[in-house]
Amino acid sequence: MTTPRIEFDITPSASPLPAAEREAVLANPGFGRRFTDHMVTIRWTEAKGWHDAQLTPYAPLEIDPANMTLHYAQSIFEGLKAYRQPDGSVAVFRPDANARRFQRSARRLAMPELPVETFIEACDLLVKQDNEWVPGVGEESLYLRPFMFAAEVGLGVRPANEYLFMVIASPAGPYFPGGVKPLSVWLSEEYVRAAPGGTGEAKCAGNYAASLMAQAQAAAHGCDQVVWLDAIEHRWVEEMGGMNLYFVYGSGADAKVVTPELTGTLLPGITRESLLSIASDLGYETGEVRISTEEWREGNADGSITEVFACGTAAVITPVGSVKSNGANWTVGDGQPGEITMRLREKMLAIQSGQAEDVHGWMHRL
Ligand code: PMP
Repeated sequence: MTTPRIEFDITPSASPLPAAEREAVLANPGFGRRFTDHMVTIRWTEAKGWHDAQLTPYAPLEIDPANMTLHYAQSIFEGLKAYRQPDGSVAVFRPDANARRFQRSARRLAMPELPVETFIEACDLLVKQDNEWVPGVGEESLYLRPFMFAAEVGLGVRPANEYLFMVIASPAGPYFPGGVKPLSVWLSEEYVRAAPGGTGEAKCAGNYAASLMAQAQAAAHGCDQVVWLDAIEHRWVEEMGGMNLYFVYGSGADAKVVTPELTGTLLPGITRESLLSIASDLGYETGEVRISTEEWREGNADGSITEVFACGTAAVITPVGSVKSNGANWTVGDGQPGEITMRLREKMLAIQSGQAEDVHGWMHRL
């Protein structure tokens, strides 16, 4: 069944940021600090379904104190990137995959599902309107943040009957401006991110609120990031705060590149899924496995695990250099970025920036 196209009302900003100021932002964008001139909104009500689609100047929202999201947290989001291509055009990395994950998140939180085509069209419209905000060729990008939340006003725990879908965009600089730096990670044995039957595989706001104490604990132990373990045995490695994990066994052409299997409690990352294909294209054996913290520690001690890295939209691929927990403390390999990690990273970035052939048809050109 094809979805009827939704018509957008377009109101361009009368006062976009002057070009010189925009260029100054793009010269040093950081991450998630500055936003482009426009935003997209689409409303949903039980009576009308998806309607009132608009592209308008970026502006604050007025929120009623009894807005149901503020109380009961029906709030989901996505993160994806638009990259400048060598011919000056712009392409978005796998927006269809984000659109489908957004639908799954909506279903889990009893929210309406936005059609995949509408999600992509909303992102395209914003990127086209704010095209000059997409940074230059290379690792820089325009980060897109689609999100949806309950817009009904009233108290009482039940699914809202009104929602607002939005897309905003923020230029993002290279994640490692000073060169790739391995992360130190903290194994969280005290806090749990997600339990079986919970919302771990949905990209919902509450998952992130629940992770912050453990992140603070990681920082207190001098670590950059938390590694989440399973909720039952506190033993099986799941993922990090905003990234999935990969383990490399062996080296050279015989290396095996594996990632924790999707158990329902971790986020099915799009970078994770893409890397299974890229690693296999490069000739490595790949797998989705269960890996325990003991196997990780012993594997690093006996040299069978040679590299560990994290992956996600924001940082693409980040090596993990050292691991800490209440009872142990160890280094991954020699603590430096591994050869296969860097090879996969370069290949991924080359596809996204249009420097390598897009054999999987991942780049959605505008
Ligand atoms: N896990 C979590 C908890 C995340 O927030 C993210 C970022 N979306 C990821 C993994 C990586 O997912 P992706 O590759 O789709 O960015």
